[in-house]
Amino acid sequence: MTSIVIIGSGPAGCYLADQLLRVIPDASIDILEKLPVPFGLIRYGVAPDHQGTKAVARVLDRVLARERVSFFGNVEVGRDVRLDELMSLYDAVVLATGAPRDRRLGVAGEDLPGVVGSGAFVNWYNSHPSAHTPAMNNVQSAVIIGNGNVAIDVARILAKGPEELAGSDVSSEFAAWLTAQPLEEIHIVGRRGAADARFTDHELAELGTLQRARPVVSDPASLTGDTAVVNILRGFVEGPARDTPITINFHFHLTPTAFVGEGKLREVQFHSARGETVTLPAQLAVTCIGYETVACGTAQSANGVFANQDGKVGERLYVVGWAKRGPSGTIPTNRVEAQQLAQKIAQEIADGNRSGGQGLRERLEQRRVRFVDYARWRRIDAAELSRASPGRCREKFSSTEAMLNAALAGQLKPA
Ligand code: NAP
Repeated sequence: MTSIVIIGSGPAGCYLADQLLRVIPDASIDILEKLPVPFGLIRYGVAPDHQGTKAVARVLDRVLARERVSFFGNVEVGRDVRLDELMSLYDAVVLATGAPRDRRLGVAGEDLPGVVGSGAFVNWYNSHPSAHTPAMNNVQSAVIIGNGNVAIDVARILAKGPEELAGSDVSSEFAAWLTAQPLEEIHIVGRRGAADARFTDHELAELGTLQRARPVVSDPASLTGDTAVVNILRGFVEGPARDTPITINFHFHLTPTAFVGEGKLREVQFHSARGETVTLPAQLAVTCIGYETVACGTAQSANGVFANQDGKVGERLYVVGWAKRGPSGTIPTNRVEAQQLAQKIAQEIADGNRSGGQGLRERLEQRRVRFVDYARWRRIDAAELSRASPGRCREKFSSTEAMLNAALAGQLKPA
């Protein structure tokens, strides 16, 4: 039996497992995940009010449920098992660890309280166990840096009132914080023009449908070009005037140069294309400028990804998803990429008579690692669904320990 281990249970890892089962009929696939729960970006990246997108988790869940796939949650490479051990236990090892670290702008004041990377901010409103509450209050004006879909997600979540977040699984702590903010202005700032923005049409247009916020363009003359994005922005300018408590202001051709404040953020400074300094008041700034991968055990990343040749890092070691190509594309991009990598792995590896999942399980048990298998994950899932209050689809556990308690209740003594 050919044994393959995939490190990471986000869409890249799960789609790859699915494809490997198709092209390697005798494959046995283990998926390791450092959190007790699967699905990575789907659970902690996709916005909580986009439950339609999060529903892809059901497809991924069916992959984990397959007979020849085993899930090992709460197993961290480098902490619970070494990468070289995995290389000796399995015929192939695949890094599907995503890009969990925020890229930094590298400008003055970036560490001021009130300045947050989008990964940290999105993790917070998605109840990620390692998220901590950013220190800011009394937010009247929020500045969002970047012109991609993450910037749109962050703006939309900030702009929505409690009724608009009904039916979501937004973090209760975040929702309470948001309700307490006297928010009036959200600024989305791009360093290039509207025609260069990376928003997708659907996501941008959705900002025009919000109840307590309306999108405006600070300088309509800056809307040059004829792209779908530019036309949607023109529609915002030309549409009927609406009076809402919050405005979402689009600014273009402004390059961030500094975050300014005494002990906490007060304003963000930009350099305009005309050579002027422009400042926007802000008590919160979220930098939505992309992500980079981090080391996985002894595998080191460079320039935000693991260096690879079409998904191959080295002999029997592969990489897929954002860890391979950087943070780009949509969720279905991973399916296409998984097909290609699965073919490559099928051509390059053979059954090496390695002990695979059995060997891993023995080591984890010897080390008293409280790993979460598929049945235990289902228990966490059921507990989260059942504890949701009316108006919410799920109440996630926001700590690893709470997840493990739900998974292992009455089963194992703590290590
Ligand atoms: P993105 O689409 O790559 O956008 C990043 C933005 O940051 C760009 O506007 C970029 O400007 C800007 N930026 C980068 N470095 C900068 C700097 N030093 N100063 C100022 N601006 C800077 O990335 P993302 O928004 O993080 O999204 C990641 C991926 O997830 C994308 O593929 C996105 O489509 C996807 N996503 C999809 C959805 C959805 O479909 N609903 C939701 C969220 C995310 P330049 O263009 O000038 O480099």
